[in-house]
This record gives sequence, structure tokens and C-alpha cells, in this order.
Amino acid sequence: MNNPYFIEGPALISFSGGRTSGYMLRQILDAYDGTLPDDIVVSFQNTGKEAPQTLDFIQECSDRWAVPIVWLEYEENTIKGNWFKIVNHNSASRNGEPFKKIIEKYDACPSGRNRFCTGIMKVQTAQKFARHELLFSDYLSVIGLRADEPRRVANITNNDPNYKESVCPVHTAGDTIREINAFWLRQDFRLNLPLAAKSTPLSNCDLCFLKGTKTIIQMIKDDPSRADWWIKTEERYLGEGGFAKEKPSYRRMKEIALSQGDLFDIPDDATIPCMCTD
Ligand code: SF4
Repeated sequence: MNNPYFIEGPALISFSGGRTSGYMLRQILDAYDGTLPDDIVVSFQNTGKEAPQTLDFIQECSDRWAVPIVWLEYEENTIKGNWFKIVNHNSASRNGEPFKKIIEKYDACPSGRNRFCTGIMKVQTAQKFARHELLFSDYLSVIGLRADEPRRVANITNNDPNYKESVCPVHTAGDTIREINAFWLRQDFRLNLPLAAKSTPLSNCDLCFLKGTKTIIQMIKDDPSRADWWIKTEERYLGEGGFAKEKPSYRRMKEIALSQGDLFDIPDDATIPCMCTD
């Protein structure tokens, strides 16, 4: 089998700041003897709600592996509409600014049924950067999904027109959570966030509405201030169901987190995998 990590340019590698995409980037670098050709570019799309550890990890991968990573954020352009701006580890938003901008623009909260947060802040922002800054017209979108995530891969490759030209080399290589865990155990740095069985609950937007209710409440228990941005943002749209009609509101989840009871009675709804990869 050809090495799936030897991808052909032009290509844009989406680096989410998670362990799988870090693993994928290292394998692609190794396939190219450590240096990517000019027509293979790595980008990270920041929502402003990522954990500080995620931002530090992205910078550390870039520094240690000597690979440039372009940091992008959604920005509204008065002439071009939805657009992008290039930031860096220092200037990246840390208080949900890009997220707030899209909520204000579309006058709605994203939800499980309408994940326009991913669609605009992650997918479209990367596409606009690739087409208008890199001048790529026909390029591969390289996404870090594992071999033990076949449904997510199928969703990307079959259902989403944004991803027609996508490849998931970790999946193609047959690499699973086992290979990813073993790889990071061998490294002398890592993503400094707690691990669950097959995921990193604190990765991506901190209290993302696709995370399980118990996970969100536990994260609020650990740091009650995490809930405040979500409460403030959601309350304007509560009449329309807020972020997740099927879950308690963020205000209620904070109340539950601050009450002294355990989480025994909280429904254990599963975290729904989103396009924001690990
Ligand atoms: S992590 Fe959740 S809230 Fe953040 S962009 Fe992805 S789907 Fe939206």
C-alpha cells in the first residue's frame, strides 16, 4: 500500500489542536522527511473558545517540529462577507470573539441540528483562506479522523459538499486510538488536557453543546466561570431553545454544578462527535 501520509499537494491540513491531528501532522511530516513542500499548508481555525492548553499545544507542535501553522479566525468583511484573518498564538482570541460574531450575524445560536459554528468558523474560514490567500483552486482538505471513527469519515466524505475533496490519512492508514496513544506516550511533550476513554473532553470549544450533559456539568464544577460566556450568549435565544433544546440551559447546568449533590441523576447523554476533530 502507498503511504497514506504521503499526500499530494495542493493540500490544506486542518490541525484542530487535538492529539489525533497532531499525530497526523507528524506522520505527514515524516513522509516528507520532516519538511512539507510549499503547496501543503497547515492551518488551525480558532473559535476563541478553545482551552489555553490547546493553543499552547499547537504552538509547541509548530516550534518543536519546525512546521509553520497558520492560525485563522472568522472575520466579517464589509465587502466580501464571511472572511478570515490571520492571527498567531499571541493575538488569537481567547474569549469567544469569533464565535460571538457569527451568533450576532446570524442572530441565532448554533445547535445540534444547525452546526453553523463548525461550518463557518472552521470549514468556510479554511476554504476562503485556501482559495483567496493560497490561491488553491482544486486542493485536498486533510482531516484527522481515525480508523475507529468510520461513521465520522463517512459523514465527511459522503454527506458534506464542503468536503468532497477530503482525505483522512489516519483512517486510511488503519490507525486507531491505540496508535495515537502509543505515539504520544513516546513523545516528550503532549496536549496538557485530561484524557477520557477515546477522547479529550476539554478539547474544541470548552462547553460545546454537543458534549454530554454530565461532561458539561463536570467541567462547570471544575471551573464555574466556564459557564458564564455560554449563559450570557444563550439567554438571548432561550425562547428558540438556546444551544440545545434537549439539554438543560447553561444557567441550569451551572446551578446543578454548584449544588452539592452528585451527578447521579443527570442523564448520561453521549457526546455527539462533531466536525471539529480531536
Ligand atoms: S466544538 Fe462545538 S461549539 Fe465549537 S465549533 Fe465545533 S460544534 Fe461548534
